[in-house]
Amino acid sequence: MNEYQLRDKEELIQLIELQNGKYDISAIEKAFDFCVLKHEGQKRCTNEDYYIHPLNVAKIIINMGMDSSSIIASLLHDVVEDTDTTVEDITSMFGEEVALLVDGVTKIGRLNFTTKEQQQAENLRKMLIAMGKDIRVIIIKLADRLHNMRTIDAMPDYKQREKSVETLEIYAPIAHRLGIRPVKEELEDLSIKHLDPIAYNEIETFLDKRKQQREQILEDIKSRIEKHLRTEMPGVNLAFQGRVKSIHGIYRKMYLGGKDFDEIYDVYAIRVITDTVADCYNILGLMHDIFQPIPKRFKDYIATPKPNMYQSLHTTVISRDGLTFEIQIRTFEMHHTAEMGIAAHWKYKEGIKGNNERLEKRLAWIRQILDNQEESGDASELIRSIKVDLSQEDVFAVTPKGDVISLPVGSTIIDFAFAIHSQVGVKMVGAKVDGKIVQLTYEVKTGEVIEILTSNQAGRGPSRDWMNIAVTNQAKSKIRSWFKKEKRAENIAEGKENFERELRRLGISVADEEYETFIEELAKKNHFLNCDDFFAAIGYGGILLSKIMPKIRDDYNKKLQASKSTEIPTTSKPKETSSEGVVVEGIDNCLIKLSRCCAPLPGDEIIGFITRGHGVSVHKRDCNNVPKDISQCEQPQRWIPAHWSVKKSDNFATTLQIVSIDRDGLLGDVISVINNMHVPISSISAKQQSGGNCGIICSINCESVEHLKSIVLRLQKVSGVFSVERIGK
Ligand code: MN
Repeated sequence: MNEYQLRDKEELIQLIELQNGKYDISAIEKAFDFCVLKHEGQKRCTNEDYYIHPLNVAKIIINMGMDSSSIIASLLHDVVEDTDTTVEDITSMFGEEVALLVDGVTKIGRLNFTTKEQQQAENLRKMLIAMGKDIRVIIIKLADRLHNMRTIDAMPDYKQREKSVETLEIYAPIAHRLGIRPVKEELEDLSIKHLDPIAYNEIETFLDKRKQQREQILEDIKSRIEKHLRTEMPGVNLAFQGRVKSIHGIYRKMYLGGKDFDEIYDVYAIRVITDTVADCYNILGLMHDIFQPIPKRFKDYIATPKPNMYQSLHTTVISRDGLTFEIQIRTFEMHHTAEMGIAAHWKYKEGIKGNNERLEKRLAWIRQILDNQEESGDASELIRSIKVDLSQEDVFAVTPKGDVISLPVGSTIIDFAFAIHSQVGVKMVGAKVDGKIVQLTYEVKTGEVIEILTSNQAGRGPSRDWMNIAVTNQAKSKIRSWFKKEKRAENIAEGKENFERELRRLGISVADEEYETFIEELAKKNHFLNCDDFFAAIGYGGILLSKIMPKIRDDYNKKLQASKSTEIPTTSKPKETSSEGVVVEGIDNCLIKLSRCCAPLPGDEIIGFITRGHGVSVHKRDCNNVPKDISQCEQPQRWIPAHWSVKKSDNFATTLQIVSIDRDGLLGDVISVINNMHVPISSISAKQQSGGNCGIICSINCESVEHLKSIVLRLQKVSGVFSVERIGK
């Protein structure tokens, strides 16, 4: 877009005269004079006279082909806000139509979109209502924002960022929905320039570096296309354009899509414009005759227009020089729609039939959004509808909070989670799409609300195959770095656990408050920078406990002797105690009980818990009452290793639940299987269940887990039985 600024009334009138249309020149002149008069003495951040701003907003409006009222309103758009002029003054001087436009723009200007979501939604709703009344209000507002963004360099840094975010989140999507491509793209490019100047410059450099070479190739291609089409389609009206994708468009593919510059096929596009739809398809065929099309890169937006009514044929092809580029084929009318969007309505007010219908169609989405919002009353819903861009190359899904996450097509739940935050990604245990649980391989689609379910449980984390499911580089690299880092965490945890077990085994007890210093000293002695490095080294076997523990024990004993001189603890070799067939490490003569919650059986992995006054209670390692990560629990010192004594123990009671098809003789068969194995039954009951099933609860005494397994196996073979489960005691 031409960034030359108008300076005075003559230039304004000149520009208007260049347009072919009917304008109320005298009213426009009057508005200009009024604007200069009212803003007299006011300066912009750029240190120019204030009227330069409305004048150049008017310029944008004129170039969009808008009508006299819009031009007048854009000249006056700031007088109510910034001077003593009232809306009534405007009504009496310029009429009601202009006054309503100025009033609308003024009201929108007061809305703040950088505040809380709820308020943002409310303001957005007001704006949409204003738009629904007269869409020219928002077109003027877009022109206002565009000129402000063009001159934003004069503003303080934080303001630049704030305005850029707002532009990217609110105004650019509106321009997109209204189909005003040049405004949308310039707003996006200017926002990115201020939000991510490094990336912006990088892309500019990319484009510059190859400019000459590419321009030459493109020029060659263009003339080749033109020559071919003029020969094949003599007498057909044709126009040709070459274009470079917007910086923001490249930005999204590079930085959000994780693509290299060279992987973006549609950086360069050649446009062919003609009269009829039939010719569009003819041209497409002729293009595929002379260029190799890239599979799956053909899009027919003529048959299925984009939601903003954009129509065109897109095909990506490779030239003989290996340059990939896009060819866009459309009619002149489609071209106007693509460039002007809703503004085309005013430019082609006369002449094109059905334009009102088209305008209505364009405005329908605004009404729809407002209606939906009234129904749901959900503020984030509204923000989402406006923020969700409808580009076809990227998908846009939304978090339950309404944040829009854009991802390349084909992205999965895993990409989505990591795009929110790496912590969300690594803690993910599942996901819901529109309220339904889905697999992590689920492909994200535009408009879906995706909730990532996370867990803080230790030991959770990505699995290695996530690397194959993830599509974006962002997710892949985050998973990779997690494994690198998390291995260390695993090592530290394991090292700590092993070390502390050795301490207990050797009867070394360190008071909680001294523990940290104790470890720090040990780490230093063993030439480690900190405790974590020390534990990590134990974890991965860099230092052997068998080597360091004797010294630690000796030091401990010496210290203890020095402080208490009399009493020396029996740290030599711990005796093992066995009770109920369980050996608890390092504890002598102590009451040992099997816990009731999980009823451990010989063969189960077990752990002991030192109770207050009731000895040690023994749990299954995977019992719900046992912390998953002992080192992270409140009183790790009370958990002690235990194992089953080798000696053959007494029988253990356990309960089985058998579910079967209900049939005659079922109970008898079950009992005889158990009896045949010489297993005592202490109780058995059977109950009819829904669906013709029968549930049998049976308490038995068995010798070990192995023994139990063989019983279960035999029971599963009983005709009609489909599940046998151990249900605790
Ligand atoms: Mn303004």
